Amino acid sequence: MGELGARGRYTPPMATLHSPVPPAAVCAPTPQPGLDDLLRWDREHVWHAFTQMQEYEPLLIERGAGAWLFDSAGRRYVDGSASMWCNVHGHRHPRLDAALAEQAGKVAHTTNLGLSNPTTVEFARRLVEVAPPGLDRVFFSGDGSSAIEAALKMAFQYWRQVAPPQPARTRFVAIAEAYHGDTLGAIGVGGVDRFTAMFAPLTFAALRVPSPGCPCPATGRPAPTLPEALETLDRILTAHAGEVAAVIMEPLVQMAAGIHVHPPGFLRGVRDLATRHGVLLVLDEVATGFGRTGTLFACTQEGVSPDFLCLAKGLTAGYLPMAATLTTTTVWNAFLGTHAQRRTFFHGHTFGGNPLAAAVGLASLDIFRDEGVLAALPPRIERLREHVARLARLDHVGAVRQCGLVAGLDLVADKATGMPYPWQEQRGTRASLAARPHGALVRQLGDTVVLMPPLCITLDELDHLAAAVEAGIRAATA
Ligand SMILES: *Cc1c(COP(=O)(O)O)cnc(C)c1O
Repeated sequence: MGELGARGRYTPPMATLHSPVPPAAVCAPTPQPGLDDLLRWDREHVWHAFTQMQEYEPLLIERGAGAWLFDSAGRRYVDGSASMWCNVHGHRHPRLDAALAEQAGKVAHTTNLGLSNPTTVEFARRLVEVAPPGLDRVFFSGDGSSAIEAALKMAFQYWRQVAPPQPARTRFVAIAEAYHGDTLGAIGVGGVDRFTAMFAPLTFAALRVPSPGCPCPATGRPAPTLPEALETLDRILTAHAGEVAAVIMEPLVQMAAGIHVHPPGFLRGVRDLATRHGVLLVLDEVATGFGRTGTLFACTQEGVSPDFLCLAKGLTAGYLPMAATLTTTTVWNAFLGTHAQRRTFFHGHTFGGNPLAAAVGLASLDIFRDEGVLAALPPRIERLREHVARLARLDHVGAVRQCGLVAGLDLVADKATGMPYPWQEQRGTRASLAARPHGALVRQLGDTVVLMPPLCITLDELDHLAAAVEAGIRAATA
């Protein structure tokens, strides 16, 4: 066995079962890196996501507890972005930690290509039980983008194999300003230009419905009304009858677009149109799933069951990378046949169904069931609403939006006219950074400051978060 050295650093054993004589280079003692080394190596070696590395200032988070994160200097911060929208029950939840350790004591990974393991099977079963009705089949992958890719490819292949086949159904309808992840298929149906425009030549073009939640960022044109948006969708599905495989959308709220909330009835309307035109509906609940909007899944708020439900982020309560694409028996049946019939879904990810992730996901569903997580949300959502209303009165806060336990605050140059700041000034980024010394880690989307704490956050912690964000906004807009 190896041992934990000073500062909890793992010292590898001199010899293990698999390498009785380790090469000298491996067993030569490495000096303990100091904090300065780590900060320098972070700048020199780690290419951070969505980050301009030339301007990156390292901050190392060493540990977490509940809604708090602690940096390498021991300073603490409320985790105001739920560690990128995925933490649910807090960091170091004893039941999640125990589930992870227990599974690690059995096996960490086995493949799900033609094999299975008890934990993953049980997790699939529990997901089916809590999912909206009709979603009986679970395809596991590793992250949200992969869950979307699986749904798009399944929808496409479904129409080639359904009886009678409809191979002309190759197109997807997506919502303007949608975000479905960063892989090529996902950006094909995505619409946040600042992320995707660069790669447009590599992607397929989705048919696009303006979002009734978002003003057009390019033209500033206000969002269409609910009837206008649904009419456009109806028109597109009529004009492209027989060509559309599926409609894909984020239900209730488009997070990455800037926390843009749809008018009530949009989801229901899209479901009804998809049904009427005979196309499949893919719901991306990667961000909305697992309580964020106040219910376990957002789609149940409008009584909607999709043909595909894509889950990730909160699926393992934010502990481990895992995603799932749930679908119906109707879709599943179109893929059945002998090997020779070539109806198999030839698609998969190496770590799909990983048992460590499944064990934590299972324990997370237990916590939802046993610890009244959803029942505890309304007062927290209400407290967030009070803070958002107060922050909305700041001189440089324009529009504010909230859905459940997530809110977005637009920073504007001129409150009266809503005129934005020049984007190059990065006021949103500056506000987030300026909130750090006040003890909060938040992320922005452009000049929209986002509050998306773990569901477990207490009212006092919400007050702390709001105060830090207020200080950050004041500093960035002074
Ligand atoms: C984060 C996100 C994705 C992509 O998930 P990854 O795990 O980052 O690939 C897809 N859709 C929505 C709505 C998301 O918020």
